[in-house]
Amino acid sequence: MQKENQIIVDGLTFIPYLNCETIRTEVERVGKEIARDYEGKQPIFLCVLTGAFVFASDLIRATGLTDSKITFIRYKSYEGTSSSGSVKQITGLTDDISGRDVVIIEDIVDTGLTACRMIEDLKKQNPTSVKFATLLYKPESSQTGFVPDYVAFKIPPKFIIGYGLDLDGKARNLPDIYVIKEG
Ligand code: 5GP
Repeated sequence: MQKENQIIVDGLTFIPYLNCETIRTEVERVGKEIARDYEGKQPIFLCVLTGAFVFASDLIRATGLTDSKITFIRYKSYEGTSSSGSVKQITGLTDDISGRDVVIIEDIVDTGLTACRMIEDLKKQNPTSVKFATLLYKPESSQTGFVPDYVAFKIPPKFIIGYGLDLDGKARNLPDIYVIKEG
């Protein structure tokens, strides 16, 4: 349901936060940073399903790294609008990443628990390097001190939907990013 610029999903109201032009500019900036850092290399991008699929699609094209590969893993730590605190792997990685330069592509870093767990798991498979790219990063929510290597936007600790991010599976298809309306 949509009313003027507001979006209502599952009875919660969201207001526009980042429009698609702003998102594109920052995703292209991050893509260029990755292209510069991985010039002459063959990185493997790990897109974290489901939320990162839109960002990953734009980001890998923005890098222009034709020798890169992309594959998909799935972790889940959220129910509704608040973190459950538990982090678990639902679908594992099937590609061999030993001796590879890995770049994880995630939609959002909130507490940092998911990111730390993923990096810990991946390092057991002896990659040459593991770096972390995220569309959104909430530094004030961190419970781990984790700092992503590539960040499109630093944001305050508020709940976001759109551009791949969901509310209980909905709203991933919004081209813009919306923030929950408070009060
Ligand atoms: P963390 O482990 O860093 O606390 O949480 C990471 C995961 O929580 C993200 O991959 C995402 O699925 C979910 N998450 C955290 N903040 C938000 C948010 O503002 N909106 C949505 N839709 N998901 C979020």
